[in-house]
Amino acid sequence: MQVKVDLHVHTIYSRDSLITPEDLVFYAKKRGLTAVAVTDHDRIDGALKIARETDFLIIPGIEVSSRNGHIVGLNVQEPIPKGLSADETVDRIHAAGGVAVACHPFAFFKGSLGNHANANFDAVETINSSAFPFNRCTRKAQEIADRFGISRVAGTDAHYGPTIGYAYTVIDAEQQVDDIVKAIAKGKCQPFGRPIPISMKLAKYWQFLKKHF
Ligand SMILES: [Zn+2]
Ligand SMILES: [Zn+2]
Repeated sequence: MQVKVDLHVHTIYSRDSLITPEDLVFYAKKRGLTAVAVTDHDRIDGALKIARETDFLIIPGIEVSSRNGHIVGLNVQEPIPKGLSADETVDRIHAAGGVAVACHPFAFFKGSLGNHANANFDAVETINSSAFPFNRCTRKAQEIADRFGISRVAGTDAHYGPTIGYAYTVIDAEQQVDDIVKAIAKGKCQPFGRPIPISMKLAKYWQFLKKHF
C-alpha cells in the first residue's frame, strides 16, 4: 500500500516551534497524512513521548546540528550528539538503526550541508517547504539525488501547525514505522510539495511574538 507522510516537523520540544502535540495530530489528520516524522532540533525525548501518547502514527526522528550542517535521522530511538562531522553523524544514525536524510542541503539561513551531502546518506530532502529560495533549493537538491543515486523525500520543516502537509512523501510501505523507513532507504518513495506561502509565514511570526513577548 501507499502511505503519505510529512517527514520533517518540529514541535514545542524545539524552542522555535509553536506546534503542540495536539496541533500535530489535528493538522496531520486534516491534511490526510498517514503519519508524520517528529524531528526536533538535537533531541528525541519529545518525539518518543508523542509517539507513546497518541494513536496517530509518529516516526520518531531528530534533526541533528552536525558541524557541517543539519541532518535528519528517522526512526531513531536515542539522541545523536550534535557537533560531529556530517559523516560521523550519519554513521551514528545508522548505528542507532535509523536512516539519514540530507535535509534542505542548499537552503539559506538554515545551517545547510551544501556539498557535505554525499552517498553516505540514505535520502536527500529535495522538497522542503520552508527552504529559501525554494526553486533553487529544490533543483540543487535534485542534482545531489541524481549524482549519488539516493532516495528523494519531502517535508515541510513545519514550525506552525497550519503549515503541516504542504510537503509530503508518498511511500510504498505498510502503515508501520520500520517498513516506512526501509522503503525510504530503498527508494520506494516520491516527494511532493510546495513552498509555505508568505501569508502563512507572517501568521507564524505573529503567533510566535504573541507567545514570547
Ligand atoms: Zn534544519
Ligand atoms: Zn527542521
